Amino acid sequence: VKKQGGDNYIVYNQEIDNIIREEQKLEIELENALDEHEFYLLYQPVVDIATGKTQGVEALVRWNHKVYGKIPIITIIKTAEQSGLILDIGKWVLKEACQQNKKWQLEGYDPIIVSVNVSALQLDHPDFVELVKKILEETELEPKYLELEITETVAMENVTENLKKMKQLKEIGIGIAIDDFGTGYSSLAYLAELPIDKLKVDRSFIKDVPECADSMEIVNTIINLAKSMRIKVTAEGVETMHQHGLLSKTGCDLVQGYLISKPRESNYIEQKFLA
Ligand code: C2E
Ligand code: CA
Ligand code: CA
Ligand code: CA
Repeated sequence: VKKQGGDNYIVYNQEIDNIIREEQKLEIELENALDEHEFYLLYQPVVDIATGKTQGVEALVRWNHKVYGKIPIITIIKTAEQSGLILDIGKWVLKEACQQNKKWQLEGYDPIIVSVNVSALQLDHPDFVELVKKILEETELEPKYLELEITETVAMENVTENLKKMKQLKEIGIGIAIDDFGTGYSSLAYLAELPIDKLKVDRSFIKDVPECADSMEIVNTIINLAKSMRIKVTAEGVETMHQHGLLSKTGCDLVQGYLISKPRESNYIEQKFLA
């Protein structure tokens, strides 16, 4: 602690210094990671709750660092967003996911939808819609087999701009899902205006079903909301048969979670969920 004039103290904290240095190191490592092909995708199946049929997969990025090994993705996403690197990583994810989905189709599997997470920075980028178009052309994937996941919080920011972009994406024929739904503060009037196909109920609510009556109520409310908008609902983070049973009674359309499968490599998905 350094003494300043009067009663003011500046807390000089070695910890904070270390954290900042670590962040800078992570940024440099992240820049290299793309060139070094250290990123890869896992896919988590999304299945029809009534039939169990695979309707799609969510692509989830992973980083295998040559020295440190596998690094928890949530820390990376935050640093990647702050440094702007999420734009390059996001572009790579989008292309890789579209390419894989096209590959499955060419191999003769029944077509499914691949869902890709889009961060705020990507959506805000003026060329985002063009980029998506270009990647669909390059990979020759039909737009209806791509879905973009935009979190509720992001969807509710920059309302006018985002609405315009979502409409443009929709015109291309891409699906749009609102991710982590229930954790933000949606205005119902605005939600009704969004050109969306799906709500994904956040895992935090599913986690407490059936123990917590309030969570079940919230899940029910979201399902009814989606029904009134004539769009689909996915429950994410479904881990038990009990949750699955209750959800199927409420009219939920799709489920995703460890009960069905953890995120897995494309080969595994192919054998267990597409064959
Ligand atoms: P998310 O989009 O909400 O993805 C779902 C997360 O829940 C994934 O974590 C998945 O592995 C996990 N999950 C799925 N089912 C279960 C379950 O039954 N139980 C539990 N406990 N967890 C389950 P993951 O892969 O660690 O990703 C975390 C977050 O990182 C994602 O949350 C997403 O916000 C972000 N993320 C991942 N990949 C990408 C990406 O390519 N681009 C962007 N922008 N964000 C990504
Ligand atoms: Ca997601
Ligand atoms: Ca989610
Ligand atoms: Ca989440």
